[in-house]
Amino acid sequence: MDIYMAPANYRPAARLLQGRTLMVTGAGDGIGRVAARTYAACGATVILLGRTGSKLESVYDEIEQAGGPKPAIIELDLAEATEENFLNLAGSLAREFDHLDGLLHSASVLGERRPIESATYAAWQEVMQVNVNAQFLLTRALLPLLQAAPNASVIFTSSGVGRTGKAYWGAYAVSKFATEGLAQVLADELENTSRVRVNSINPGPTNTAMRRAAYPAETPTDNPDPVALMPTYLFLMGDDSLGITGRAFNAQ
Ligand code: NDP
Repeated sequence: MDIYMAPANYRPAARLLQGRTLMVTGAGDGIGRVAARTYAACGATVILLGRTGSKLESVYDEIEQAGGPKPAIIELDLAEATEENFLNLAGSLAREFDHLDGLLHSASVLGERRPIESATYAAWQEVMQVNVNAQFLLTRALLPLLQAAPNASVIFTSSGVGRTGKAYWGAYAVSKFATEGLAQVLADELENTSRVRVNSINPGPTNTAMRRAAYPAETPTDNPDPVALMPTYLFLMGDDSLGITGRAFNAQ
């Protein structure tokens, strides 16, 4: 797989996402939270999707206090959500917005770090549900709104272990390989039939709750803050990446 980077020293326009409506999943914490704030700071109306209402409300407040466009909140547990929940969600968004300019899938769970030999089926299923099935169902439900936009961008979040398998990364690694596959298949399907582009980002080691859980012995601040990744997240969401689709990016 060829790996791409945003242009070196990429400097997005201050109002890169002015007037855009975007959804960010996992917007309550970590990289998704910073991406939601960053997109709003560039002018986007951001639909914040996550499972913990209090976290989403605090991001909402931060965006409002910073003078960003009024966001929207969708509290949804992706481990529990049904196909019908996603269709209803898309239906209510379609009543409020006539199109969607972008979708960043950042929500994921780490699951168990243990050998396949002793992996539990329940933990395996939860990781696949959140990291793969929910992304498929949400993306499929939102495709009509994305296709109604002049140039929509869908960004999936991968991982180093979604490109090269590594011992003890279990379902998480397998789910990230599936994420890359979903991104490639969808990009190929949409390339000649729509203006929707689809790419993946491997954030690389980043100081978030997930990284701290995966590597408890690390000094957290040895890894960059999510803010350092934002040039790549902005590049792929804004018009500077028009025409780029089906590619796997590294943010570091
Ligand atoms: P965090 O754990 O900090 O954030 C993950 C977000 O996903 C949280 O807001 C969490 O909600 C949400 N989430 C988890 N489960 C569900 C669920 N069932 N329903 C809805 N939302 C859910 O992780 P990161 O920010 O570090 O990770 C962001 C993405 O980057 C992930 O896809 C991860 O796999 C990937 N990644 C991260 C790396 C890193 O070093 N940090 C490296 C490589 C890839 P809540 O806050 O309520 O728990």
